[in-house]
Amino acid sequence: MSSKQTLIRWDKQYLWHPFTQMKEWFEEEIIIVERGEGIYLVDIDGKHYIDGISSVWTNVHGHRRQEIDDALKGQIDKISHSTLLGYSNVPAIELAKKLVEITPEGLNRVFYSDNGSTAVEVALKIAHQFWQHQGEAHRDTFVSIDYAYHGDTIGAVSVGKIDLFHKIFQSLLLPSISVPTPYVYRSEVSDDPVEVRDACLYKLECALQSGADRISAIIAEPIVQAAGGMLIAPDGFLRGVADLSRKYGILLILDEVMTGLGRTGKMWACEHEGVAPDILCTAKGLTAGYLPLAATVTTDRVHDAFLGEYHEMKTFFHGHTFTGNQLGCVAALANLGIFERENVIEKIQPKITYFKNCLQTFYNLKHVGDIRTIGMVGAVELVQNKTTKAEFSSQLKVGIRVCKAALKHGVILRPLVNTIVIMPPLSITIAELDQLIDAVYSAIREVLEA
Ligand SMILES: *Cc1c(COP(=O)(O)O)cnc(C)c1O
Repeated sequence: MSSKQTLIRWDKQYLWHPFTQMKEWFEEEIIIVERGEGIYLVDIDGKHYIDGISSVWTNVHGHRRQEIDDALKGQIDKISHSTLLGYSNVPAIELAKKLVEITPEGLNRVFYSDNGSTAVEVALKIAHQFWQHQGEAHRDTFVSIDYAYHGDTIGAVSVGKIDLFHKIFQSLLLPSISVPTPYVYRSEVSDDPVEVRDACLYKLECALQSGADRISAIIAEPIVQAAGGMLIAPDGFLRGVADLSRKYGILLILDEVMTGLGRTGKMWACEHEGVAPDILCTAKGLTAGYLPLAATVTTDRVHDAFLGEYHEMKTFFHGHTFTGNQLGCVAALANLGIFERENVIEKIQPKITYFKNCLQTFYNLKHVGDIRTIGMVGAVELVQNKTTKAEFSSQLKVGIRVCKAALKHGVILRPLVNTIVIMPPLSITIAELDQLIDAVYSAIREVLEA
């Protein structure tokens, strides 16, 4: 390995980091990860950090899980990649069957791609083409929800509703309609979750009525809007969205890219409200956070609309080169094997309660406005003033400073503006959770109450 100083120099000379102001990066001390061990990331100096955000919401059972490592090594000795275009492969078939078994009732077809954005892109294009085959080509518009994040490709950005990330690309985007999100803490309607929920559902219904036959699908992140700030919808909101999509005869796309694979305390977030979409997108935790692999899972009704003679051109002309990659698929199979053998979902329930209770203590801090938590997802929204809920100016970089302070306590985090996200791998122990929570608590106090 090159020396630390060389690596730092090369990083700053050659790399362009995602979602990063590079001018600042050049001046910063940077952490270069070399290894992982369970919930820890280890840098090139051998310093251990708790992976407090599961390497951006991907890692599930910790780093270097024996079963997944072994499955990958076994697959490498057979083959690493061959195409799914016109040919098949063993792990892709086995994983498709498994995904159909574990996704909600009615989802019976698996289309693979590489990442969350492509899983969404595929869902949008399937929905669009579906209506053409139904003789309803006028349905060319999507409905999405304020604060939504569905990825960074242009289709996904079109249904994204976070100004900070999306506004600059406005002129490139597909038609889409947005409706309010039930962000209870900052709602102008009420501070009662039920009233906020019903007001948002009412607005959604109005949009569906006025958009009428132009709307193709509603796309939503079930229960948790992740990049929007880990906004947790009031009970019944997702159910309401699903009911309205049925009532108006449009497709429901659920983006489970962050929420899937146990993150919210159930395998899929839509299980919390017994909702089954027409199309479900999964990525991030699908390979337990090991490799880029995504799946877009559809119902038979959706899939069968594409059946026809070749010359009818009903084929879904879409595919990525690495679609169904064997290494990704065996990692996902090994991941699901662990869920099954170790009853992961059942086993994490006490940990979830513990996590939730610990987070409540953050309300003692002077600048903690809202705490949102579900499953192993935790978010702490920092505000300038608790009474008025006034936000910190972005110039203060409060979120970034808290995460920097957490590093000194041995924890790696990444904020969403002024919201601190805590999302450890599901495999974290109670003792490690204590360590993580204490570190974040101290970091907030040091930055904002010193
Ligand atoms: C991360 C994320 C995506 C995008 O996934 P990538 O793999 O980064 O393309 C899409 N939807 C949701 C809900 C996400 O959290």
